[in-house]
Amino acid sequence: MQDLTDLYQSVILDHNRRPRNYSVLPTANRVGSGNNPMCGDQMTVYVKLEGDRIADLSFQGSGCAISKASTSLMTVNLKGKTIAEAEAIYAGVHKLVTTGTVAEDDMSDLAALAGVHQFPARIKCATLGWHAALNAAKGDAQPVTTEKPSD
Ligand code: ZN
Repeated sequence: MQDLTDLYQSVILDHNRRPRNYSVLPTANRVGSGNNPMCGDQMTVYVKLEGDRIADLSFQGSGCAISKASTSLMTVNLKGKTIAEAEAIYAGVHKLVTTGTVAEDDMSDLAALAGVHQFPARIKCATLGWHAALNAAKGDAQPVTTEKPSD
C-alpha cells in the first residue's frame, strides 16, 4: 500500500500546485462558497448550469493542499455531468474519504483522495469544494460551512 499512497500523494500535490479550472468563470450563473474554519479553507465555486447539467465550472480559494486538490479534482470530474450524476460521483468520493474504499474502477484520479480517510480531521477539507459545487448547482444560495452537521 505504501507505493499506492505515494502515487495518490503525487496526484494531490500536482493538483495543489497546478489547480485545474482555477479562475472566475465569466459565464457562471451559479456561485457556491464554503469554508472550513477548523482548517482555514475557503473555496468559491462557479457553475454554469444548463438545465440540470453542469456545463462548466471553476473555482478559486485558499486552503490546505487537500482542500485545493480535492476541489480541483472535483471541477475536472463534474464538468459536463448532470446534477444527479454529480451527486452519485460525490457519494463515491464521500465513501472514499471516510472509508478509503475505492468503489468504482473508473474513479481513477479521484482515488487519490482515498488516503484522506487515514486523517479524519482532513475529511472536511476534502469535501468542502464538493458541497459548494453541489449547493450551487442545486440553487441553494446558503454558504456552506463544515460546521453544519451534514458531512
Ligand atoms: Zn484543510
